[in-house]
Amino acid sequence: MLRALSLLGASAFIGGATHAAYVSESSAAAVACKPAAKNECAFSPDEFRGFKLISSRYESHDTRRFYFALDGDSTMNLPFASCVVCKYTDVDGKDITRPYTPISDNSTKGRFELLIKKYPKSKMGTHIFQLRQGEELLVKGPFKKFDYSVNQWSHVGMIAGGTGIAPMFQVIQGMLQNPKDKTKISLVYANNARRDILLANELTEYQKTYPNFNLYITLLEVPKRWLGGIGYINKEMVEAFMPKPGEKNTKILVCGPPPMMKVISGDKEFPAGKAPIQGTLSGLLKDMGYTEAQVFKY
Ligand SMILES: Cc1cc2nc3c(=O)[nH]c(=O)nc-3n(C[C@H](O)[C@H](O)[C@H](O)COP(=O)(O)OP(=O)(O)OC[C@H]3O[C@@H](n4cnc5c(N)ncnc54)[C@H](O)[C@@H]3O)c2cc1C
Repeated sequence: MLRALSLLGASAFIGGATHAAYVSESSAAAVACKPAAKNECAFSPDEFRGFKLISSRYESHDTRRFYFALDGDSTMNLPFASCVVCKYTDVDGKDITRPYTPISDNSTKGRFELLIKKYPKSKMGTHIFQLRQGEELLVKGPFKKFDYSVNQWSHVGMIAGGTGIAPMFQVIQGMLQNPKDKTKISLVYANNARRDILLANELTEYQKTYPNFNLYITLLEVPKRWLGGIGYINKEMVEAFMPKPGEKNTKILVCGPPPMMKVISGDKEFPAGKAPIQGTLSGLLKDMGYTEAQVFKY
């Protein structure tokens, strides 16, 4: 029988990050380091700004939390729900850009936080893991993923794998920290093994604190006395936790590595030289009767 989990155990998909091809190499230049004015977003969508690394620490064996300095005690002021894009120039003079979702909230003063996984030979992951204290990361944004107004959905289902939790966490945090927001949130989070689970402390705390937040973790390699899910996210888990197909005022957000996206919803489409588009819904959610309007692929 499926049941809600008080975390610390769980899940299933290979690797962790989200869609690698969201923003690929570009030759865009524009580099600047300007502090944001008070209450303005710390990032600019028009130019890359440099942010100094304060410190970092391991979140799991291959994923670190990176803390970057904001000007004085200013805050990030990143609109909900959006990402930023990071950039560096490689040894061949080629600009490498990748999207990331800060996990710190907008009330955090003087810093913002990124949760980043490093894959073997991965470009941005390797670059950021090699940054030393005081060195700058170039960041541009915000880039809005979708518009949201408080209580616009009665129930949001989330299907996440690996670092696909980062964009979900921003939404969870934004909804739960707003006392006016009564949205029911159901997260099914998949990882390979217990040691791969990210943001476990925060998610567990939310599970304990907010009755409108339900967490279910599934793992490929389960530890002893595991009470969560076993194996890949499947039809039974979707039936148990997600809003029903066609249910009014509901949404399902999906974010995970490409193999997971393919199986659950089909990945986004990446037209050459253009921004990614949602594309056709396929996979498990399509088979179960969900529509494109009800599903959002990160
Ligand atoms: C909206 C959005 C928000 C994102 N937010 C975050 C975030 O907060 N934290 C985070 O870590 N990532 C996030 N990502 C993913 C991120 O943008 C990069 O794709 C990821 O960090 C890999 O980039 P890289 O340059 O390090 O690796 P690359 O050089 O692009 O890839 C090198 C190799 O690593 C492996 N690899 C890369 N990506 C994956 C993957 N998803 N699954 C399995 N293997 C992979 C492949 O073998 C690949 O050949 C986000 C993606 C999107 C679309």
